[in-house]
Amino acid sequence: PTTAKAPSPKPWIEAIHAYVPGKSRGKDGRPLIKLSANENPLGTSPAALAAIAQAPALYPDPDSTALRTAIGAAHGIDAARVVMGTGSDELLNLIAQGYAGLGDEVIYVRYGFAVYDIAARRCGAVPVVAPDADYGTDVDALVALVTDRTRVIFVANPNNPTGSYLPGGEIARLHAALPADVVLVIDQAYGEYVAPEDSDGALALAGEHENVLVTRTFSKIFGLAGERIGWATGAPGLIATLNRIRGPFNVSATGQAMALAALNDGAFVEASRIHNRDERARFVEKLEALGNHGLRPLPSQANFVLILFEGALTAETAFDGLADRGYIVRWLPGQGLPQALRITIGKSEDMDAIADGLREMAESAK
Ligand code: PMP
Repeated sequence: PTTAKAPSPKPWIEAIHAYVPGKSRGKDGRPLIKLSANENPLGTSPAALAAIAQAPALYPDPDSTALRTAIGAAHGIDAARVVMGTGSDELLNLIAQGYAGLGDEVIYVRYGFAVYDIAARRCGAVPVVAPDADYGTDVDALVALVTDRTRVIFVANPNNPTGSYLPGGEIARLHAALPADVVLVIDQAYGEYVAPEDSDGALALAGEHENVLVTRTFSKIFGLAGERIGWATGAPGLIATLNRIRGPFNVSATGQAMALAALNDGAFVEASRIHNRDERARFVEKLEALGNHGLRPLPSQANFVLILFEGALTAETAFDGLADRGYIVRWLPGQGLPQALRITIGKSEDMDAIADGLREMAESAK
């Protein structure tokens, strides 16, 4: 070889913007209280932490059998219809890879979860972005974009970063309007935070149809984000596809043991859900009491609130001001939301400090 030429990635890979995770440090490198990644402020279930020592550091069970059995029992699902992933991120990518290729189309809503775009592009598929309805998901807008190239539709319910939620009737209506060969993915990463009476029925839908997958994660309410454990459930054909292409040992032994213990620690999950429900309501009430300062918290069924800054105080200024007060939250200019901050619901005292900080900044920005 006489010409020195660097390897060049596929053009559809080059078009991907790498995922930017929530940070835990300020501009000057100072560690800040992190409310930027939708983690559980109560931490990890003590039962899960106690399970670490019991896991041998040999190859894990490649099929996560005990964990899948427990998940199946907890949700009334046949364990054979459950597949584990290295976080639900891996499963979202595998779903796109399994069902979409060059020139195919993958649909999701504007202000949808950032990984959907990457998942579509990395298999050469075309991401097709549906318009939102005041930051929420509009079923008719999604359905209007379906073509004979559509292979996958991703809907996060609740959605990240907006917190918006589609009730069960809308999920069923979306499914009924789709061709049978389109995979409908209901991403329930925040599903455990939804009040039980508001369930969207997606797990039942995945149990009844050949083309519905539900994804869940141990990263959020179970406090196991560092272990990277997610799962998906759906028809045997869909699960077989994901099993063909997943990593053979994609969930570590420690992760399997911790997730199993966390799943059995119902008290921790319930305490986390109640804390989130109550603190979210208290935080939103405080923001709404600010009156006409232009801060608009969007309704949320998740463990975070997206606040739109529509007055004199901008989201960017508020982001910097909160960092000065010791908090890092999520500012999302890269996702088309330069006017918004996404704030994870943290401990009570932190939510008070943030609400007070926002009030001070909004008043002095007038
Ligand atoms: N889906 C949504 C909507 C999310 O917000 C996240 C986490 N940011 C994930 C999936 C992925 O979570 P994990 O890979 O940790 O399971």
